[in-house]
Amino acid sequence: IKAEGRNGYRFFDVTMQQEAQKRWQLEEGLYKAVERNQLEIWIQPQVSNEYVITGAEVLLRWRHPEKGMISPMDFISVAEESGQISAIEEWVLEESLSLLSRWQATNLPSTFRHLSINISPSHFMQADFIQRMLPILERYPVPGINIEFEITENLLINNFKQAIETMQVLQEKGISFSIDDFGTGYSSLRYLNQLPINVLKIDRSFVSGIANLDDDAPIIDVILLMAKKLNLEVIAEGVETQIQHQFLAQRECSLYQGYYFSKPMHHRDFFNLLMQDNGV
Ligand code: C2E
Ligand code: CA
Ligand code: CA
Ligand code: CA
Repeated sequence: IKAEGRNGYRFFDVTMQQEAQKRWQLEEGLYKAVERNQLEIWIQPQVSNEYVITGAEVLLRWRHPEKGMISPMDFISVAEESGQISAIEEWVLEESLSLLSRWQATNLPSTFRHLSINISPSHFMQADFIQRMLPILERYPVPGINIEFEITENLLINNFKQAIETMQVLQEKGISFSIDDFGTGYSSLRYLNQLPINVLKIDRSFVSGIANLDDDAPIIDVILLMAKKLNLEVIAEGVETQIQHQFLAQRECSLYQGYYFSKPMHHRDFFNLLMQDNGV
């Protein structure tokens, strides 16, 4: 038993070492990725019950020369730990504004309201977040109303006051906020009322529970009712089937994001889709 234990430990140790090496390689690669333009903006439509595109989420992709496309699931946490996330998300904001200003030179459908950008908690809570983001916003002729920031509930645990202040400054510029992955993190009913939030994004895990035995229907009911009372919009994330869409539509959900409507696509393809008929 003792020998087995030792072997087990050694095995664990080796994989830990491999993991550490993999992360280090990702971290090194990520520095080059920014310099060498390997990061790409992909976009997933957000649609109404009438299949009109009312907004869209910006999702990062890393086109690695040897490894192919790398998912943000694999590199965002690395970027957060290494401190690269701020520079990366400043780039994302810059690119998004640049896209919006080019798009607005065409006849963008008036039903399209904004691009939603994910902001990492570690970035959002940095002391110079505002000082660094505002000049980027001011560099482009894009109204703040065309930008939404997605933040998570966990952001609010540590420094509620600072979070509110940051949000208020940006709100004055027209920027709106949504709570991402709603229902999965630290939830306090109080913050919903105190923060300048406009949208709750129901996490995919609740949506995929629809029509299963472990039905998440009551939770979705409660979120929709609460949002209505608090005058918040709701987006259901990760809608994959017609059954899920129907279920949500019957409960007066009005906005959706998911493979059933459209997968994320390169920003060029998104623009073409938007200009075609503004529907998916
Ligand atoms: P998220 O913010 O929850 O984004 C939604 C994710 O769900 C995306 O994964 C999207 O492709 C996926 N998705 C959308 N509809 C469906 C569906 O119907 N079924 C399934 N199974 N998945 C669906 P993606 O693009 O791989 O991004 C993963 C996560 O990476 C994002 O989750 C977000 O947390 C993070 N991420 C991406 N870009 C950024 C960024 O610029 N900054 C930060 N901080 N995080 C980012
Ligand atoms: Ca998001
Ligand atoms: Ca989400
Ligand atoms: Ca999620």
